[in-house]
Amino acid sequence: MRDDKYNLIARSVRPDSRNSQHATRNPQPVTRYRCPVTRYHQPNTENQKSVISLIKPYFVENRTKILAGLLSLIIVDVLQLIIPRIIKWTVDNLTAFEIDVWRLLSYALYMVGIAVFIGIFRYIWRRCLLGTSRRVEEGLRNTLFNHLQNLSASYFDDVKTGDLMAHATNDIQQIRMATGMGMVALNDAIVLGLAAIGFMAYINIKLTAFVLIPMPLIVISTRFFSKKMHRRYQAVQAAFSELTEVVRERFVGIRIIKAHHRKTAEALRVESVSRDYINKNIRLVKIIGSFFPMMLLFSNLSLAIVLYLGGRQTILQTITPGDFVAFISYLGLLTWPMMALGWVTNLIQRGRASLDRINKILQTLPEIRDRQDARDLAGVDGHIVFENVSFSYASKRDVNGVATLSNISLSIKPGQVLGIIGPPGSGKSTLIGLIPRLYDNQRGKILLDGNDIRTLKISNLRSHIAFIPQEPFLFAGTIRDNITFGNQDISDERLEKAVKDASLYETIDSFADGYETVVGEKGIILSGGQKQRIALARCLLKDAGILLLDDPISQVDLETGTAIISTIRKMAGSKTIVIVSHRLSAVNWADCILSLDQGRMVESGNHRQLMDADHYYAKTFRLQEIEEELDAA
Ligand code: ATP
Repeated sequence: MRDDKYNLIARSVRPDSRNSQHATRNPQPVTRYRCPVTRYHQPNTENQKSVISLIKPYFVENRTKILAGLLSLIIVDVLQLIIPRIIKWTVDNLTAFEIDVWRLLSYALYMVGIAVFIGIFRYIWRRCLLGTSRRVEEGLRNTLFNHLQNLSASYFDDVKTGDLMAHATNDIQQIRMATGMGMVALNDAIVLGLAAIGFMAYINIKLTAFVLIPMPLIVISTRFFSKKMHRRYQAVQAAFSELTEVVRERFVGIRIIKAHHRKTAEALRVESVSRDYINKNIRLVKIIGSFFPMMLLFSNLSLAIVLYLGGRQTILQTITPGDFVAFISYLGLLTWPMMALGWVTNLIQRGRASLDRINKILQTLPEIRDRQDARDLAGVDGHIVFENVSFSYASKRDVNGVATLSNISLSIKPGQVLGIIGPPGSGKSTLIGLIPRLYDNQRGKILLDGNDIRTLKISNLRSHIAFIPQEPFLFAGTIRDNITFGNQDISDERLEKAVKDASLYETIDSFADGYETVVGEKGIILSGGQKQRIALARCLLKDAGILLLDDPISQVDLETGTAIISTIRKMAGSKTIVIVSHRLSAVNWADCILSLDQGRMVESGNHRQLMDADHYYAKTFRLQEIEEELDAA
């Protein structure tokens, strides 16, 4: 009838299955609890809330459940403490031959009744207390995710995805453990521990004093071992993540491995991470393997004291045989509270440290955020103006003094098309990313219909812009979900039109499941060009006044590229369009083409003007014409 909490200490170091799934997909070692808040993302210290206020609302909201849970936990403890008394009565009555069958039966029925009540109240405390800790976990994870979604793109330049995953899984799990099992362990350490000692002292104070001698060893070694177990399990988890990631990468890159004849080298790499995983597991097994025998040793030490000293006192009739047996039972009950005492401080420390880390992220303000007086624009004409705009990424700001974009000035009238060209790394994607405020320029102004974009609400500004980034990202859902972003309100007709305009109709039609085809992780089953066209269809569906296209035809063949460009051309006049492209045939029809080099505008004009100028554009155009002719031939 003893509670099954003993094994919790060993089990507590293991994350639950949901968390280990996250960790599996995540190659970053979970042992590194580096706080990802950098000098560019200082926490809002003025508003540093007490970390406790993060979890307080859940406790207030669930206060009735917590009270019911704690009450049930205390009832279970009390019921457990009654059992040795019944055993004492039975043994004393039996040894004195003062018992009849009916009394014996009533004792047996008491035991059954107690077992039933223990079962019921244990169910209640588990539901109430552990259920509340699950709610804390869920709420904090949602809060963290929503907050991270609001942080600026620059935050994610500095922070590793693995670190964020560790916060969202390990840290939140530690908080759950502290708020759930922490509360249970604390209660048991105090209530069950003190009550068991009290009952033992009631039987015999001297014997109790002797029996308690090995108990501090249990407390201290539980504290020591649970810390070590936790650290080693973290290492196991990190090694497992590494192993799965290495194996996953090798499967994804199997063609490259075969082509470069790297099978043996890669097999050795997998063997090495696999060995590391096993070694870390063995280290964990060693510590768990020594913890329980040690606990057994300490509790048996106390048992030996009871057997010898208690036995002597029974012979001397200082205590009855029933007291002797009850004493042993109380001793059995005392082991868990002693372990809980050692464990609970670790649980609370870890939970507190995790709460601090989560709080630090939650206190980090988005670098780009709405001003107090930010406005909405009901609709836009699409007049975009750059006035002497300069920009550098935070990580490069102090390095060489050369800006990523320097003194860019341009004007795109409503319905006009701007093409941006330039060698790799010249700043094309950066320039296009400033319009929806993925980053904010340090100098100069960007105006939309005469309004500085910083005076507009970010969500409103972005609602007027459809943007295809250079590397289209697909979620692991169906083609339909990827195009519509799960929006059920989009009619089949609208969807089909966007798909046709993006030259994707035949491709989708060729899949057995059509729109319901599951594209796999990051759209693994699709080619680069197909992914790009899905991103285009997604963009066309948005029907925004401004279209920003970052190299929309980089991964499609000439024919598909021409079809996509002709769709985009049809929108010219009704939308303001900015196209970045390495292929000049994608932009040669634009009203204005801007050529960048090392972040500076080196030439601008329409196709004819740039051909006449005979610089980068004209030379690249002629070169690409020859390439296309050769391809056609
Ligand atoms: P490509 O034609 O290869 O796509 P691009 O002209 O679009 O290149 P950008 O992607 O704008 O060039 O990059 C301009 C410069 O800024 C490069 O030197 C690049 O290394 C740097 N850069 C780009 N993104 C970041 C970032 N998030 N953090 C720091 N530096 C960056």
